[in-house]
Amino acid sequence: MKVTKSEIVISAVKPAQYPQEDMPEIALAGRSNVGKSSFINKMLNRKGLARISSKPGKTQTLNFYIINEMMHFVDVPGYGYAKVSKKEREAWGKMIETYFTSREQLKAVVLIVDLRHPPTADDVMMYDFLKHYEIPVIIVATKADKIPKGKWDKHLKVVKEKLEIEPGDRLVLFSSETGLGKDEAWSAIHYFTNT
Ligand code: GDP
Repeated sequence: MKVTKSEIVISAVKPAQYPQEDMPEIALAGRSNVGKSSFINKMLNRKGLARISSKPGKTQTLNFYIINEMMHFVDVPGYGYAKVSKKEREAWGKMIETYFTSREQLKAVVLIVDLRHPPTADDVMMYDFLKHYEIPVIIVATKADKIPKGKWDKHLKVVKEKLEIEPGDRLVLFSSETGLGKDEAWSAIHYFTNT
């Protein structure tokens, strides 16, 4: 998709703050530092749009971006950051559970994992959670540029096996550095948003 306009609409913690517009929504989830902000910025052709509140230790909010006036990206705060307190982790869990289970406009979740390493226990938990609620998942394995091309297949296989990816779920090889996988990621998103 040619993104001509993208901007942040709101940082929300509860449903009353979610945007009212009835447009398709794609949420983006992944562990802290996996490359989620870089993925969003690459997809939207923006350098510093996603950044501010997704950093560990900052306020945990759902950041809604509006794209070409027709869909939302929802940046979910990263998980698995060791220094987050139990209380903060619980608040995070409650916030995302509410969003994922109640938001009717949500069409799919892009789950971002690091191609270099096997998915973490938190990644597996997130994938299982989405499957449990029957929310469509697009898995994006990013930082592909950090792995030699000849080893991509081997690493993708580890991602598939560790998450126990179900047949039919899309797995996209990606690099925010080179733009690899950008068209494929957009095509996977369009499939679910009908845009
Ligand atoms: P977030 O915490 O998930 O939002 O992660 P960021 O997008 O801030 O990325 C974390 C670090 O990984 C930064 O230093 C990025 O420059 C780097 N990074 C993210 N994506 C890629 C990628 O595709 N390739 C490479 N080489 N580095 C990346």
